[in-house]
Amino acid sequence: MAQVRKAVPAEVKRAVLVEAGHRCAIPTCKTSTTEIAHIKPWRVVREHKFENLIALCPTCHTRFDSGEIDRKAMLQYKANLGVINGRYGEIERRVLALFAENPEINSVPMPAASDIAMMHLVKDGLFARGLKPNLGIMIANGACATIDFTGKTQEFYTITEKGRDLVARLAEARSLN
Ligand SMILES: [Zn+2]
Repeated sequence: MAQVRKAVPAEVKRAVLVEAGHRCAIPTCKTSTTEIAHIKPWRVVREHKFENLIALCPTCHTRFDSGEIDRKAMLQYKANLGVINGRYGEIERRVLALFAENPEINSVPMPAASDIAMMHLVKDGLFARGLKPNLGIMIANGACATIDFTGKTQEFYTITEKGRDLVARLAEARSLN
């Protein structure tokens, strides 16, 4: 008699989804519709262990099942999730995902005083904080005034060479170490 496949326990499923931020774990995808995938196939392992589970969107799940994304890459995606989650906060992880998905971007604008939210990315030399000049000309009552917003409303985080390397490693499922 074939072994009945039990559902993934709720707490394990939750942990896997939280690990990936309730998004597809592929850094260049990050689709918000998720399924739980077994990295080593369930028919082999016959169990649902956190270490062997990863959140994928239906498209990436299919690409994985068909072998288009191989198991070695999936293991690396899983390992990289652990490293990134241990080191960076929610906003930092979103910034890394943004750059993984959009390699042509150099800088990202953030609200003023985002230095704490971006602290570890800056500390690790992956991003540099800057106050790009942001001069606006305001015309009121026929008079022109130059308003300097510099450092008041926005700041900019520019990716460094080291940052580019990390983002490329994330996107290409290479080791972060
Ligand atoms: Zn996906």
